[in-house]
Amino acid sequence: MSQLPPTDHIETLCLQAGWRPGNGEPHVMPIYQSTTFHYDSSEQMARLFDLAEPGFFYTRLGNPTLDYVEKKIAALEGGIGAMLTSSGQAASFLAVFNLLGAGDHLVASSAIYGGTFNLFAVTMKRMGIETTFVPPSASADEIAAAFRPNTRALFAESVTNPSLEVADFAKLSTVAHAHGVPLVIDNTFPTPALCRPFEHGADIVVHSTTKYMDGHAQTTGGVIVDSGRFDWKASGKYPGLTEPDPSYHGLVYTDAFGPSAYIVKARAQLMRDLGTAQTPLAAYVLNLGLETLPLRMERHVRNALAVAEFLENHPRVAWVNHPGLPSSPYHALAQKYMPRGTCGVVSFGVKGGRAAATKLMDSMRLGAILTHVADARTCLLHPASTTHRQLTDEQLAAAGIPADLIRLSVGIEHIDDILADLAQALEKSAQ
Ligand SMILES: *Cc1c(COP(=O)(O)O)cnc(C)c1O
Repeated sequence: MSQLPPTDHIETLCLQAGWRPGNGEPHVMPIYQSTTFHYDSSEQMARLFDLAEPGFFYTRLGNPTLDYVEKKIAALEGGIGAMLTSSGQAASFLAVFNLLGAGDHLVASSAIYGGTFNLFAVTMKRMGIETTFVPPSASADEIAAAFRPNTRALFAESVTNPSLEVADFAKLSTVAHAHGVPLVIDNTFPTPALCRPFEHGADIVVHSTTKYMDGHAQTTGGVIVDSGRFDWKASGKYPGLTEPDPSYHGLVYTDAFGPSAYIVKARAQLMRDLGTAQTPLAAYVLNLGLETLPLRMERHVRNALAVAEFLENHPRVAWVNHPGLPSSPYHALAQKYMPRGTCGVVSFGVKGGRAAATKLMDSMRLGAILTHVADARTCLLHPASTTHRQLTDEQLAAAGIPADLIRLSVGIEHIDDILADLAQALEKSAQ
């Protein structure tokens, strides 16, 4: 293994962090397509099982290929460690379930991805975990009022999918820390190329790597990143981290692993028992996407801003939402926390409501109708009839998603072709 010269530049880390070939080793990160690993003595194997020594023994719990990609993503976010998961949903669930159990309480922004909303509001409720949702516009006092003595985390998205609201990190982290709980941020939309939540007070970051990180719509995946900065002992609210784990012969994570306690427990306990592991092949594909992430994000941001400006000046368009537009109520927060841009997603409503929206969608030729977002190719979706269809009208409104909202994920094709496609589809939406 060769050392990476010290750098904080995301462009360099995306290509050079993680796999560091030594003399005569492959230039490109290899795939360890093996479920298990050889040891000469059962004694050493026992030490691995006891977490007394680091090493790989079974791919559900760790694999060199995954490890290289986890190290790269931890470096990108400025964290102490990371764990890949089979999907973004698995990452959000494990990130939160690593802190809460039956009888505990979560405070979450109401403007979050539909799948995450359902996970918290319905599925985790069945496990005895209650969630109180607060709108992203809520004041610090209003968020604080949602906290209970048994609240164990505050969860929000850095840029919300699909309503594109930008997190007020100072407000969120102040409230969370005043209550002795960590701030968990889903950073899927900006990616660390545009925003690093740990620099703004977040403690844990999750991603759906299915989106921009892969960027080519080829692998589902997720990741949890630990800043290593939250003081679990001082908080006194996390016996799962600071008291003996009966499933590990009484091991105390904070004593044994110090600042890495959270991410080690996520792997040793939750990944062991719930098994939502990413595969080595998926991690390999994800890594290819990560190599060009900063370049792609730069182009996504530039194209999205051009599309947003075009739509804002188009007579067929009722409204446009993109945090890069000065007309956005989130423009100032975007400038503060994401000066290089927020993401490549633009949402808008076409005049003529639902019917015109459908007509426009069906008339796009370059842009594809997909249950996907954050892909290199331009794609679009009508959330109210697809990803968010399990939400009631009130829940839709709380999530900041009008029924006529079209979510346009602007790709990295030539901008003239994207604008021409939109222009012809907007014209047809009037017919
Ligand atoms: C897609 C998405 C998820 C869920 O990720 P999957 O990989 O589809 O499971 C979570 N959060 C955000 C912001 C997303 O866009």
